[in-house]
Amino acid sequence: MKHAVCAVYPGSFDPITNGHIYIAGRAAAIFDEVRVSILVNPQKRSMFSVEERQMMAREALSYLPNVTVDHFEGLLIDYLRQLKSRVIIRGLRAMSDFEYEFQMALMNRQLAPEIETFFIVTDPKYSYLSSSSIRDIFQFGGIVQDMVPPGVFRRLRDRFPPRRSCP
Ligand code: ADP
Repeated sequence: MKHAVCAVYPGSFDPITNGHIYIAGRAAAIFDEVRVSILVNPQKRSMFSVEERQMMAREALSYLPNVTVDHFEGLLIDYLRQLKSRVIIRGLRAMSDFEYEFQMALMNRQLAPEIETFFIVTDPKYSYLSSSSIRDIFQFGGIVQDMVPPGVFRRLRDRFPPRRSCP
């Protein structure tokens, strides 16, 4: 019997950007089910809590019926095995992503040979976009409205109200 293919798209998503949404949409067109999974890493300082990141991702991806949002702690391959998933989705923006992603894919292959990593190339218009650049640009008053979904923009604005100009 053939099982429905559940693919896991892991990351920090701090916060989710239009680049992530593009990758989730491409994956959703290929796999039966896509699980966007937020990695809980207590060692890493994040701007948004796991609950906030999850809520923003759910809102932004609600138009894709076969995409769900979840979070996990610990080893990615253990999480996949628990879900009985054998597919990891990762996005590629540039050659500079490749080395890190390649190394991680090989490490996961070593740990779990049954699991496959699928890479999806971004749209060129998102190739410069990362969660960390959104956080930096926004904190210093830059315009990010067309780079993130409306719910993320709203929460960024609540967190960092616009600065007044010089007195
Ligand atoms: P990490 O914290 O592991 O760097 P992120 O949460 O930033 O991961 O991103 C998760 C995945 O989404 C990674 O595979 C990353 O390469 C990919 N990604 C991030 N931004 C983009 C983008 N603008 N276009 C395509 N893929 C992206």
